[in-house]
Amino acid sequence: MRPNLLDPFFASLKSLPGIGPKVEKLYGKLLGREEHPPRILDLLLHLPTGTVDRRSRPKLREVVPGTVATVAVTIDRHRPSPPNRPRAPYQVYASDDTGDLILTFFHARKDYLDKLLPVGELRYVSGTTALYDGVLQMVHPDRVVSEAELDKLAMVEPVYPLTEGLSENQVRKAADAALGKVPMLPEWQDEAWLKQRDFSSFTEALTTLHRPEEPADVRPEGPAWTRLAYDELLAGQLTLALMRAHQQRQPGRGSSGEGILRAKVAAALPYSLTPSQARAVDDIVRDLALPQRMVRLLQGDVGSGKTVVALLAAATVIEAGRQAALMAPTEILARQHLATIAPLAEKAGIRVAILTGRERGKERAETLDRLAIGDIDLLIGTHALFQDEVAFRDLALAIVDEQHRFGVHQRLALARKGEAVDVLVLTATPIPRTLVLTFFGDMEISELREKPAGRQPIATRTIALSRLDEVVEAVGRALDEGQRVYWVCPLVEESETSDLAAATDRFEDLKQHFGERVDLVHGRMKGSEKDRAMARFSAGETSLLVATTVIEVGVDVPAATVMVIEHAERFGLAQIHQLRGRVGRGTGRSTCLLLYKAPLGETAKARLAILRETEDGFRIAEEDLKLRGEGDVLGTRQSGMPGFRIASIELHGEMLASARDDAALVLARDPELTSARGEALRCLLYLFERDEAIRLIRAG
Ligand code: ADP
Ligand code: MG
Repeated sequence: MRPNLLDPFFASLKSLPGIGPKVEKLYGKLLGREEHPPRILDLLLHLPTGTVDRRSRPKLREVVPGTVATVAVTIDRHRPSPPNRPRAPYQVYASDDTGDLILTFFHARKDYLDKLLPVGELRYVSGTTALYDGVLQMVHPDRVVSEAELDKLAMVEPVYPLTEGLSENQVRKAADAALGKVPMLPEWQDEAWLKQRDFSSFTEALTTLHRPEEPADVRPEGPAWTRLAYDELLAGQLTLALMRAHQQRQPGRGSSGEGILRAKVAAALPYSLTPSQARAVDDIVRDLALPQRMVRLLQGDVGSGKTVVALLAAATVIEAGRQAALMAPTEILARQHLATIAPLAEKAGIRVAILTGRERGKERAETLDRLAIGDIDLLIGTHALFQDEVAFRDLALAIVDEQHRFGVHQRLALARKGEAVDVLVLTATPIPRTLVLTFFGDMEISELREKPAGRQPIATRTIALSRLDEVVEAVGRALDEGQRVYWVCPLVEESETSDLAAATDRFEDLKQHFGERVDLVHGRMKGSEKDRAMARFSAGETSLLVATTVIEVGVDVPAATVMVIEHAERFGLAQIHQLRGRVGRGTGRSTCLLLYKAPLGETAKARLAILRETEDGFRIAEEDLKLRGEGDVLGTRQSGMPGFRIASIELHGEMLASARDDAALVLARDPELTSARGEALRCLLYLFERDEAIRLIRAG
């Protein structure tokens, strides 16, 4: 049970003034919690990206136009917009003993301004100044206070990332109010370590970040942020350590057989396994036979053939009379797995079904019934697989594709659906060895390093966007030759809406050139629409597919031979590598065109050059790591480290080893977290939503 002390952190945002159901929705979007209502904690972990510094208090004569200043002025007179020109600004003339200032308001209400800026009185006005016609002006001052209120004026204000519909002021007020609601907590960090690093307590660190006194207070490298980052890293490492301990205590159930079903699947394959596929299958079969839980990561580049390894693993437990589940991060992928697996499974006599959000009604009920009585051997699906209503007769193996999109949560939720469930995680994100432990410290690892035979190298070229016309011509020639082309549109900021706008524009544009052969697929489309668009492309009904990054993960259209990536400089290398892996899957020669906006900096140039040089995802990851640091290797510059809200590997990665040692030490001394520090650490796990790990303590 969560300690009551933490309740204020988990209270609904609606408990804050001014937040009702409608605004709550906006916060849901801002805080990335659209499925569950956002809580005080979510807002407190939404950290500022900078500050507005109002500390400069010049006389009017000394004001530097274009900067933020706080000035003390006397209000001289009001000049409302003339009645015949209501759109003209309302101006208030003010001055001090060195000069004049015009305060300008649009769409102003006179009674409001009369009260805010009474003629003849002194007011402190803070905002950005500008020179218009040689006169110093401030358009819509940020703050206006009287002498008496001056001490309440925050001279350094945090600036937050926003979403449409929420203003800086709203978020700032809400964060401030949220801070007022939360208590101090028992310390979970080692006191000596805190002293050594000059860290304050958790709640104090939040206070520093949301009520900064200096702009430096909110720097991600600063002590307040770093403390929270360390908390997050420790929570992560503690979770991994708890999982590892839990696994070691778990008796597994050996699933072995003579490998007859595996042999049938292998016989149905139109190719033979690569050496590393064969090795991975051996690893897995050996693990499955042991009376211990398997938790294994299968790392392999895009196109390295993970699916068939997964199927052979499933065949192993199915032969032992048990069931397997394969969970994919998107519906497209789940369907694609089904399409790949179904014909092979049929030949081998494996009964396969699919379950996503789209299967409803009778069909769904029937699948669930068949699953419960063991009439389905392998269930493929999305998140839908770990809903409560999904019950297996005897789940033995959970396969999770593209792990980094799922948390430990989901893996555990799926593993709980059976008795001693073995887990196989598939990932195509090449992660340098140094980082593997951070994310997968609790797992054994198999790697698929070579590509299946017969693959043609992908010719990769970088081209400035200014030569777009030539690119369109080249694409036209490819289309005329019957080739199929992906055109991936840039990631614009973090906003899905503007991503979509860019893709839609490009789509319209290319349609002008190539007509009905062009299609569009993006993240806002319904699952069924996306599938249809992919199916049309796959079948050759359309031959130029404009896409946002929804096609990033795993989509397999062997006939596609050209990949155009617009604004390649905005993508992480790993992400481009993934995208590029969509082509070169068939026997035809493939091309990847990376369009960049000139001029490129030295690092950006070097990064794109790596992509021209090699297709080895591991090498790309290592090289990129050298150039730019870890955050980018994971393609997470925009979205943060997967599963982490505060910590960035680049800035805080050096503390990982400490966090790992710390977690090991804590659990060696106090495996059930019952000491005072142990109790405090439980709070930490709850705060970073690693409470699944707490259940493991006793579940063992
Ligand atoms: P990924 O690792 O990206 O999930 P897939 O499992 O989708 O890769 O495999 C990519 C393609 O390679 C599929 O079309 C699959 O049929 C094919 N493939 C897999 N293994 C081999 C192999 N050993 N030889 C030839 N083709 C293979
Ligand atoms: Mg795959």
